[in-house]
Amino acid sequence: MLSNSEKEQIRGVLEAVRRRLAKVGQSALNYSMNHERNIGRDSIDESMEEEIFSTEMRLHDREKYLLGKVDKQLVRLRDDVIDVCEGCGERIAFKRLLARPVTTLCIDCKEQNEHEEAAVEQPGQGAGYEGGGGSEIGAADE
Ligand SMILES: [Zn+2]
Repeated sequence: MLSNSEKEQIRGVLEAVRRRLAKVGQSALNYSMNHERNIGRDSIDESMEEEIFSTEMRLHDREKYLLGKVDKQLVRLRDDVIDVCEGCGERIAFKRLLARPVTTLCIDCKEQNEHEEAAVEQPGQGAGYEGGGGSEIGAADE
C-alpha cells in the first residue's frame, strides 16, 4: 500500500500528463480545422502539409490512447489499487509508478509482455510522458 504522500505524488504526475495530453489534443484539432479550410488552396507545400497533418493525427491517436490509460490509473488510484500488478497481483514499486505513471504491471510481468506491448506503448522511443519532460509531445505543440 502506498502512503498518502506517495499517492499524492502519483496523482500529481498523472494530472500533469493529463493536462499535457488535453493540450496536444486541442492543437491537433485546431490543425485539422485549419487544414480543412485550406483544402483546395493552390499550395506548393501541399505534400509537406500532408505530412505534418498525418503526424498530427498520429499524435492525436496516441494521445487518446494515453489519456485512456491515465484515466484508468486515476480510478486505480482512487480505489487504492494503483500499486497492484494486473498480471500477478504483486506490488508495483513506487519508483516504477513514478517513472511510468500509466503502468499497470510490475517489472516482471512487464518484461514478459514486452514484445506485445512495446509496439503500442513506445512507438518512437523516449515517449513524452516518461519522466515528465514532455519532450516529444510538447515539441509538437505549437
Ligand atoms: Zn506482476
